[in-house]
Amino acid sequence: MCIFCKIVKGEIPSNPILENDDFLCFHDINPRAPIHLLIIPKTHVEKFQDTPAELMANMTLFIQEVAKKMGLDENGYRLITNNGDDGGQEVPHLHFHLLGGTKLSWPHFSPEATHKAL
Ligand code: 5GP
Ligand code: ZN
Repeated sequence: MCIFCKIVKGEIPSNPILENDDFLCFHDINPRAPIHLLIIPKTHVEKFQDTPAELMANMTLFIQEVAKKMGLDENGYRLITNNGDDGGQEVPHLHFHLLGGTKLSWPHFSPEATHKAL
């Protein structure tokens, strides 16, 4: 079974920040920023393209609540969802990375990216 479903069920411990009936937010085990949280729906949805719009709408409200609770609204933050193979999705359960607590750089994802943008 998927790791994030196990976290929802409490079978794998996590360090939760906020939860309600539908969503859970917890610390990423391998943080890439001073604040690096993961936000997931409690139901198993694998990909962004499979995500019902209503779930996304409610997840938006939940993410906004998390960001407020973490005091990130003033300085800002980054939200990322890695979707599918090319997107670098490792855990096949929809999740948003919420990163903040410092000024984040914008990585070059591939050498062609700069070339194409010119
Ligand atoms: P992805 O690459 O799928 O977008 O991101 C998966 C994220 O889940 C990674 O940043 C990874 O560190 C995190 N992660 C993987 N396993 C666990 C775990 O068991 N607990 C927590 N808290 N985070 C995990
Ligand atoms: Zn799952």
